[in-house]
Amino acid sequence: MIKENIEEVKKHIDNAVNKGKRNADVVTLIAVSKTKPVTMLKEAYDAGMRDFGENKVQEIMEKYDKLPSDIRWHMIGHLQTNKVKYIADKIYMIHSVDSLKLAEEISKQAVKAGRVIPILIEVNIADEESKFGVAPSDAEALIRSIAPLPGVSVKGLMTVAPYTDDPEDNRTYFRALKQLSVDITSKNIDNITMGVLSMGMTGDYEVAIEEGASYVRVGTGIFGARNYAVG
Ligand SMILES: *Cc1c(COP(=O)(O)O)cnc(C)c1O
Repeated sequence: MIKENIEEVKKHIDNAVNKGKRNADVVTLIAVSKTKPVTMLKEAYDAGMRDFGENKVQEIMEKYDKLPSDIRWHMIGHLQTNKVKYIADKIYMIHSVDSLKLAEEISKQAVKAGRVIPILIEVNIADEESKFGVAPSDAEALIRSIAPLPGVSVKGLMTVAPYTDDPEDNRTYFRALKQLSVDITSKNIDNITMGVLSMGMTGDYEVAIEEGASYVRVGTGIFGARNYAVG
């Protein structure tokens, strides 16, 4: 089932790549495996997936040792500064950086681990009260403050678009995130690149790809609905 789901999602990705006149090799599918057991992740791995997204430090720690070491683990959820130390040597990329304080802690732990951690700046593109992320108008200032930190490298932007039944509703938000990345690129800030746009989930990843996504984060579309009661 998981294998078929992945094939289905990839077909939709190809269609969106064509429709948006994008380059196929710049779109990467992240399998969002939060709440799902290791057996299901292994199934996705065997079907070719190597990028997995999780939103809890504890869960990454539990799954990390039980699965192959060539998996790229993406932290996509809100991250508390006191937990960064547990994943600094494990995580491939952190998508959810929205404060200087968090970036400073990631940098500190990365230096300790002898590496530079790629990060994305999470932007609350629709200005939703319930969402994490920096306001679009504050993104550049935050990025300028993070740029000198030795242990992190800003690679782009991430957003969680509003929940909607009609993915077309989010097109303007995806377009706005793309435009923000273009604006920030034009500032030529040292140490900063904006090549990565992490946007689009099960309900709207095709629209996100048409508008420039390079990472799409798909959970339900691969693993089925989440059951938080038993998860
Ligand atoms: C859970 C989650 C996803 C995946 O959501 P689906 O709708 O199941 O595809 C993507 N991004 C973030 C940040 C998430 O927390």
